Amino acid sequence: MRTTVALAAFVLAAAPGWRLQAQTASTPAAEKASAATTAKALTGPAKNLFGAAKAPAPLAAEAIGFYARGCLAGAKMLATDGPAWQAMRLSRNRNWGHPRLIATVERLAGEAQEHDGWPGLLVGDISQPRGGPMLTGHASHQVGLDADIWLTAMPDRRLTGKEREELSAISMLGPDKLSVDPSIWTDSHVRLIKRAASYPEVDRIFVHPAIKKALCDGAAKAGPDRGWLGKVRPYWGHHYHFHVRMGCPRDSASCRDQPPPPSGDGCGKEVADWLSLIAAPPKPAKPAKPARPKPPLTLAQLPGECRVVLETEAEPEAEAAAPRPVPAVRTKAAQQ
Ligand SMILES: [Zn+2]
Repeated sequence: MRTTVALAAFVLAAAPGWRLQAQTASTPAAEKASAATTAKALTGPAKNLFGAAKAPAPLAAEAIGFYARGCLAGAKMLATDGPAWQAMRLSRNRNWGHPRLIATVERLAGEAQEHDGWPGLLVGDISQPRGGPMLTGHASHQVGLDADIWLTAMPDRRLTGKEREELSAISMLGPDKLSVDPSIWTDSHVRLIKRAASYPEVDRIFVHPAIKKALCDGAAKAGPDRGWLGKVRPYWGHHYHFHVRMGCPRDSASCRDQPPPPSGDGCGKEVADWLSLIAAPPKPAKPAKPARPKPPLTLAQLPGECRVVLETEAEPEAEAAAPRPVPAVRTKAAQQ
């Protein structure tokens, strides 16, 4: 049980075991690109650098690196209002994603409204304009392929900016914290999450184990198919929102996919083990030494292309031209 849970924890929160280190020697393409970029002192934690970016890198769209160690070129903003969604917490400026993810969120919003009895989506954090690590929250959400969607439905009016900052999502959990509250959880939630998990471009959806259990138990009400359940992965938290993770778009050459989830619907032992873990989290055997906080990621630990993503600024006269792709940057990992 521990292994499954630990592995899942690793996969959501941590970067894979490779380390990328930009080399001083860069490819001719990268040298040419750097001539067109603004030289900046890019030091300190990467979260400060990416957290300060207010606009996307004017480059062709590309998800670069891994969900928890990467960045995003050519991001698209999810409109703050759509026919079937409203973006929340606008002050965070995290409603940016790879254009394919934005299209998927918009499609989910419309289809869920039309077919699932779901009034519309409240969309939480996606990514920063240039992706990358964030100043607060989220180990992942770095490459523009992760989106948090509230489990609270959109109201039938346009929320004010203040409401979008202050409105609280509603937890799906009952008082035992181990099952959903049947007065809050509905068949529409099942249909909504089933729809998202059924899109081929969606690789995983993270939900609280109690929600996974409710989906396992309620799947039959949304049709005979159970294949989608395997993509719905139990995880800590995630009872106010569900987290949609897309796979790497084929044309994002330096995007790194996760291994596919284990086969099966995950409804038996896996969800039971998770619920036991939530009921009785393991206690450290002896008083643990205060853990040394992990040093924050630096730019050098991200793929080399992320420096280009940070440095590239729009050239006013080039606005009409098609955005160029991110030049490949040679890294130690790429040479192996
Ligand atoms: Zn998330």
